[in-house]
Amino acid sequence: MRWGSPMSRVRELFEQMDYGPAAEDASFAKAWIGQHGGTFGHWIDGDWTAPARVFDSINPATSECLAKVGTANAADIDLAVRAARRALEPWRQLGPEGRARCLYALARQIQKHARLLAVLETLDNGKPIRETRDIDIPLVARHFYHHAGWANLVESEFPETSPYGVVGQVIPWNFPLLMLAWKVAPALAAGNTVVLKPAEYTSLTALCFAELTRYAGLPDGVLNIVTGDGETGRLLIAHNDINKIAFTGSTDVGREIREVSAGSGKGLTLELGGKSPFIVFADADLDGAVEGVVDGIWFNQGQVCCAGSRLLIQESIEDDFLARLRRRMQTLRVGDPLDKSIDMGAIVHPSQLRTIQAYVDGAIQEGATCWHAEHPLPDQGSYFHPTLVTEVSPAHRIASEEVFGPVLVSMTFRTHVEAIEIANNTRYGLAASIWSENINVALDVASKVKAGVVWINSTNEFDAASGFGGYRESGFGREGGREGLAAYRKHRVDIAPDAAAPVMPGEVTAARPSERLDQTAKLYVGGKQTRPDGGYSRRVASLDGALVGEIGEGNRKDIRNAVEAAHGASGWAKLSAHGRAQVLFFLAENLQSRADEFAYRISHLTGDDGQREVAEAIARVFFYAGWCDKYEGAVHQPPAGKIVLAMPEALGVVGVVCPNRYPLLGLLSLVTPAIAMGNSVIAIPSEQAPLVATDFYQVLETSDVPAGVVNIITGTRATLGQELARHDHVDALWCAVHQELATEVERLSIGNLKQTWTFSGDRDWMDRSLGQSVEFLRRATQVKNLWTPYGE
Ligand code: NDP
Repeated sequence: MRWGSPMSRVRELFEQMDYGPAAEDASFAKAWIGQHGGTFGHWIDGDWTAPARVFDSINPATSECLAKVGTANAADIDLAVRAARRALEPWRQLGPEGRARCLYALARQIQKHARLLAVLETLDNGKPIRETRDIDIPLVARHFYHHAGWANLVESEFPETSPYGVVGQVIPWNFPLLMLAWKVAPALAAGNTVVLKPAEYTSLTALCFAELTRYAGLPDGVLNIVTGDGETGRLLIAHNDINKIAFTGSTDVGREIREVSAGSGKGLTLELGGKSPFIVFADADLDGAVEGVVDGIWFNQGQVCCAGSRLLIQESIEDDFLARLRRRMQTLRVGDPLDKSIDMGAIVHPSQLRTIQAYVDGAIQEGATCWHAEHPLPDQGSYFHPTLVTEVSPAHRIASEEVFGPVLVSMTFRTHVEAIEIANNTRYGLAASIWSENINVALDVASKVKAGVVWINSTNEFDAASGFGGYRESGFGREGGREGLAAYRKHRVDIAPDAAAPVMPGEVTAARPSERLDQTAKLYVGGKQTRPDGGYSRRVASLDGALVGEIGEGNRKDIRNAVEAAHGASGWAKLSAHGRAQVLFFLAENLQSRADEFAYRISHLTGDDGQREVAEAIARVFFYAGWCDKYEGAVHQPPAGKIVLAMPEALGVVGVVCPNRYPLLGLLSLVTPAIAMGNSVIAIPSEQAPLVATDFYQVLETSDVPAGVVNIITGTRATLGQELARHDHVDALWCAVHQELATEVERLSIGNLKQTWTFSGDRDWMDRSLGQSVEFLRRATQVKNLWTPYGE
């Protein structure tokens, strides 16, 4: 080396600004693996089991085998589920404060062993130590602290609920310990016990955590960890003594789980994939937005479900923005994840590397241009360049499917309306990032983007107090915050005992004609009474077999028309809550003025006390009218300089299959909370007494309910319910039906992964504790968490 004057040396160093190596020491983590003889069994009932079969856990940065890990079979799963079942009672007996102390101790354990966990995570997953040390592990600890608080509060804050029981949890490899924390902390805080399966590629931090539970004083069996591959996950999900399933992973596996668990009565939350938009307006702070892109797509090698993988740039700044981005990409450092000055580490596994490469090759074949900086990659291990793909259209595979790697697709838009259209042109709805210095534009776009999490002038922000989760095929349920905890408690309305089944009318006999004028009721679609598409009618008898009228026999085409009409009524969700309340109050008033007529009809058709049912139905509409402008969101204050608005939004179009008994009360118990929250509804009324629903059209017409907000299709509930389940533009389905039909509609709902909610059809809807609750409003909404920064 040539040494010049000290000043020229300083200049030389300054001009180069090269990083020296800053390797993290992995010996402590490797020693921990060594203490276990390099082989791990399952953690069941507070101790290790000897695994019958093992697989290699590989360091993706070096391809070295780190440890051998057990593959759980059906007997292992059964052992773990039984341990969790036994532990429920001792866990309950600890009481809220005792459980809170355990969660608090877990948070402390994580902090005390933070470096070990961070290094182990980096070794096992390939993500940079900078991220595991500064982001993953601190967030894990924060999650346990936050939920230690909830453990103490849950019984007073969620009074009408109880724990599910044993929860089966399956998590992916991209944030191994963080995903564990997101699942385990709320499940335990809510009073459940857990069997968790980590991903095959990344089991080690879960096993290290399992050992920490011993030092945190967690009773044996409260948390059980079984390792293995997808087959182990499948066995766990299918175990019939699991009460709730919580899954994070791909949409395909999410669909399979929905199908397998259909009709089982198990609670289900799914956190699935995404193809999230990152929208940059011309007036954005462009350098800030470039840093946002780096964070949005190259954090964790792009293996992030909410990665901002679709860059949407306003056309006028495209060249400027892409030039800045390419300049920044030249400075990104890819390499050994244990090096503290590395930006991007290794891809989790060679098979994931091949998937990413195949997407990029496919994009080039489709005419796209793929660009990356010309820095060499390490010659061993699984690495991929941060990559920018241009010359693509939304129809290209790379622009619509989740790559789950460091690949950014760039497109342009002209107006903010077009930005929203392109952003929503995806089957997913997990997250969105919006960059503009104009708060009006940013908030307007945020309110119209279909995503569970929206970041304004920021990206990839997470906090235990703020819920995270998706819309549409990104799954349902939230993790974190109050809404995340609610997903681990079973509400009283879900555990209603069966009431007496209704007495169904027999065959109509022409020999006993109706005492009333002949009536031919039509369907009610888009605010109009329409004839059924098939042209068929069905006779309706009173209990004694007398003909009382005929109804239209709805079919698939009628359901399609009703769905279209319901989507056309989306302005209902934009009406103020006060406006919706006024309409519902008016509805109750108009129902009141025809109370005697409805009461007579109900008594005649069902033999029940019609007066009582009508009175209760009016009260129910009043209840939800009152709630319209009171069921609101929350404001969270995460540790950084941000506020988070947690806003409940309507689900969209809700299908409702009404109970047979209580033809008016059953209808209104389900339809009213759904529309109170801004949804539009397609209702399939009682088959026992459909004429009560068809009489109701006139009440709707006179109550200022906008056309398309409530659509009613009479006919066979089983057939029509299945059509609603199959329809990909129905966002949720509530069914008060018998068990076989409930199973079928859940199974059929996998197309667009709609949320389903099934009740025992024969519950006593007169019982207010079962038929009327804020829980119905919670189920009629999904929370959008909107992050916005403030300050200098
Ligand atoms: P997978 O869905 O393949 O796997 C997720 C977990 O499920 C793993 O533990 C896996 O086991 C297990 N599994 C696989 N098949 C089954 C089955 N049939 N029944 C039960 N469990 C099963 O996803 P990846 O792990 O490959 O993760 C990548 C995908 O996950 C991406 O599409 C990404 O978008 C999504 N994801 C979503 C997140 C979110 O919060 N929404 C977060 C992280 C990822 P094994 O690993 O052993 O195969």
